[in-house]
Amino acid sequence: MCGVIIEQMAEVPLVFTYPRPGRPRQDRCPLLQDRRPNRHGGIVPGVGVPPKDPSHEGLRAALWCSMLPAVGLPFPVERLPVALRDPRVLEAMAKVPRARFVSEDLGEEAEADVALPIGFGQTISQPYVVAYMTAALRVSPGHRVLEIGTGSGYQAAVLATMGVEVYTVELLPALAERARRLVDDLGLATRVHFKVGDGWHGWPAGAPYDGVICTAAPTSIPPALIEQLGLGRRLVIPVGPTGAQTLRVLEKGETGLTELHKLAVAFVPLVRAGIEA
Ligand code: SAH
Repeated sequence: MCGVIIEQMAEVPLVFTYPRPGRPRQDRCPLLQDRRPNRHGGIVPGVGVPPKDPSHEGLRAALWCSMLPAVGLPFPVERLPVALRDPRVLEAMAKVPRARFVSEDLGEEAEADVALPIGFGQTISQPYVVAYMTAALRVSPGHRVLEIGTGSGYQAAVLATMGVEVYTVELLPALAERARRLVDDLGLATRVHFKVGDGWHGWPAGAPYDGVICTAAPTSIPPALIEQLGLGRRLVIPVGPTGAQTLRVLEKGETGLTELHKLAVAFVPLVRAGIEA
């Protein structure tokens, strides 16, 4: 499995920011009200506590969410930590057709909040995890992002749809080639640069990056990814051996990295010369 959430770890507290105190509370994003859990249990009710600390971002996300068409996203926005409810990310995800990035045989599963196979033993991440990681990068249009593990190309397409310039590195040539075609078909080719190779070394061509996202898990953070990250920018990376990985959101400062969020996850390993890194 790749890119699935195992459990929410202690981090920014999950706080509802809407509706304002005194108004009836809505437990689920309106766009999901008519949807039923699928057989993977993909649609789950939102979790949260009554409003305490309304934040502008949470409110924007909630308002935006209420305007989404019913085909929007396969998870309730409220499941994301408040700080990671980014309307720009959710909007881009609603625009990029995830079904195009997986096999047609998967049918309805393409719309569910689950990781799915993309061939060669690799998987496309669970949409919740894509939303979490993309929002955690805190990037804006025009920024440059390095992605390690192109896979299907979906994550790169989401970033490119947000107006980000993506430098993406994939070890397996066949996956990189298919991702390139899909990104091209969606009219995003000018914003995505592809490279086939070992992402352990990053991609110096676009450095310094405004964000680095790694979608395969090494057992330790590759030094090149820190080097190629700009000051004050974020690295989002699952780290650890299979079965005990943590998604880490780190910000690069003058004196080192600061950890902002973490989440227990399951990703495919970052492979180096045939072995897990
Ligand atoms: N971001 C992808 C999912 C990635 S799955 C998507 O949106 O679909 C992880 C990917 O990392 C796989 O395609 C795997 O081949 C790739 N990978 C594993 N080790 C790698 C390495 N050392 N360098 C680059 N890519 C690697």
